[in-house]
Amino acid sequence: MQLLPLTPNGQTPVRALTIAGTDSGGGAGIQADSRTMALCGVHACVAVAAVTVQNTLGVSAFHEIPPEIVAGQVRTVVSDIGIGAAKTGMLASTAIIEAVAGVCREVGIGRDGEIPLVVDPVAASMHGDPLLHAEALDAVRHTLIPLATVVTPNLDEVRLITGLDVVDDRSARKAAEALHALGPRWAIVKGGHLRSSEQSTDLLFDGETFHELPAKRIATGNDHGGGDTLAAAIASALAHGYSVPDAVAFAKEWTFRCLEASYDLGAGHGPVSPLWRLHLGISGS
Ligand code: PLP
Repeated sequence: MQLLPLTPNGQTPVRALTIAGTDSGGGAGIQADSRTMALCGVHACVAVAAVTVQNTLGVSAFHEIPPEIVAGQVRTVVSDIGIGAAKTGMLASTAIIEAVAGVCREVGIGRDGEIPLVVDPVAASMHGDPLLHAEALDAVRHTLIPLATVVTPNLDEVRLITGLDVVDDRSARKAAEALHALGPRWAIVKGGHLRSSEQSTDLLFDGETFHELPAKRIATGNDHGGGDTLAAAIASALAHGYSVPDAVAFAKEWTFRCLEASYDLGAGHGPVSPLWRLHLGISGS
């Protein structure tokens, strides 16, 4: 696969910002985003929105960062460091979503500011533990998603956001249209959780054309952080100047390799791993 270029020592890499929650188990959230960004040659800036109490068995609690502190992290990073792309993950509440949307509009992140925004509308962990208050779904639909350059829900999140069940290609197209109608530039419907299929085909839609991105399914229980990794890889490629379709195609291959390299951890779901990239050295071969 074509890898994103790493910067020679001492040179400033491109920058991206993740606005998301932490995972104390190190598998998902900000930890997954930062790892993928680093190994895609990107300096990762971080705006912490929530701190989760989490291991491989689940999320037992989370603490929300005050909305003005979340927005302040975004503002201060953009004004000094400058970023080529941003990504949102776990935002937990309506108040945080509104603060993030407000600062994004202020500094030119998202539709159609200069800085592209990947919105991963995180609602729950793979164990079913909530990462978003139910009352915040309206803010996800009408405040956050309309700002997105590209929105990347999994099938559970598609159901929560649109009310549509994706069971086949036809319903995936309907869901992509419903997501796109909320206002993002591009919508992805991920096929990864369609367990019955041999393939894991993602659908990318810009309001006119459907792009199908097939991949072979990998049967592993160690897929914690897979959604974060895909969205962070898209943001990394956008920061490097890729178009959205090229960034998504890159991210899909990246995530496939990270699923192949996933490992056992603790007693629950292990993480997808981008550490395979370290074995390739700076030239990537
Ligand atoms: N914890 C945090 C902080 C996350 O952001 C996410 C997903 O985005 C998760 C947990 C859940 O990840 P998964 O669904 O891969 O278990």
